[in-house]
Amino acid sequence: MSRDSMFRPHVDRMAGYVPGEQPRDPGVLKLNTNENPYPPSPQALAAIAKVLDNQLRRYPDPVGTAFRIAAARRHGVDPGMILCGNGSDDLLTIITRAFVGPGDLVVYPTPSYILYRTLAELQDARVTEVPFEPDWTLDPARFDVPGARLAFLANPNSPSGTTLSAEQVAVIAERLACPLIVDEAYADFADSDCVSLVTRYPNVIVTRTFSKGYSLAGLRLGYLIAQAPMIEGLIKVKDSYNCDTLSLVGATAALEDRAYHEQTRQKILATRARLTAAVRSLGYHVPESQANFVWCTDGPPAAGVYQKLKDLGILVRLMRYPGQDDGLRITVGTDDEIDRLLEALQTIVG
Ligand SMILES: *Cc1c(COP(=O)(O)O)cnc(C)c1O
Repeated sequence: MSRDSMFRPHVDRMAGYVPGEQPRDPGVLKLNTNENPYPPSPQALAAIAKVLDNQLRRYPDPVGTAFRIAAARRHGVDPGMILCGNGSDDLLTIITRAFVGPGDLVVYPTPSYILYRTLAELQDARVTEVPFEPDWTLDPARFDVPGARLAFLANPNSPSGTTLSAEQVAVIAERLACPLIVDEAYADFADSDCVSLVTRYPNVIVTRTFSKGYSLAGLRLGYLIAQAPMIEGLIKVKDSYNCDTLSLVGATAALEDRAYHEQTRQKILATRARLTAAVRSLGYHVPESQANFVWCTDGPPAAGVYQKLKDLGILVRLMRYPGQDDGLRITVGTDDEIDRLLEALQTIVG
């Protein structure tokens, strides 16, 4: 019997998501996957150390009750409106499995987070990619694709770092007959967010992560905010123990350390402003960023600059979207790291 293709045909056909490079060489300056350059809250690390003492023998709380209470308090919603996941990617997977079947239609803007396409492909679904307008807004009428079963919107968007206002997102939510996922992975660095829309619209789901704003990408915790009936449906789809004890405890402590979060946030916003001005002066077009990265296009050729930076031990993200020029997405590091990057860029293009 031939065992050439035991996979389902649509899995055979798909390429699979390719994460940003994760070199293990500590000498590499990593500015390619939007990790936070500052350490996590000391309180988070202390809480994790305490659990290591005696609690790993037991299964974790299946829904992370203590975390839900902390997140609900943080956002002024009911704990029944919070669901946690093994990183927000886990939540995006749960949502896609819950709403999308073979042949169904998934809609999202482009250029944006490339995982949305992979999630749709895993369900053997169809996709419609709606281009952003030149000013990085979305035309609600174009985004409201007839028959869509699920819509993703990264806000702030990656790679552009731009945001739609809550009112602009409300107009989109109002029109759509399907769930609208507002992926707020970078909301920690933005001036506003869309959490207030959740109580107004039963189809709005806001996702958050500890990977960027809380320096805990290695811990893997994300959560979403939605109305209670939505949460109850999604709980049926998730793995029973999708979040481990360490990540629940660590994230709860990190969330409660508001002062530390604000301190690292302010440092990143200040460095972001400096980085933006510097890469603009090197000739790049850079939209005003509301995230912890800047998106550089229409300047010195991206592919060449990416490679020369890599040769110097500096990793940024070279991004290619069909029909568009290549761009460089550069994560905001510490001031010292950004000095090293800018010095290298000067020698390459200056
Ligand atoms: C980083 C990122 C995520 C995933 O975050 P995790 O919580 O680490 O899974 C989701 N959406 C966008 C747009 C991201 O950039």
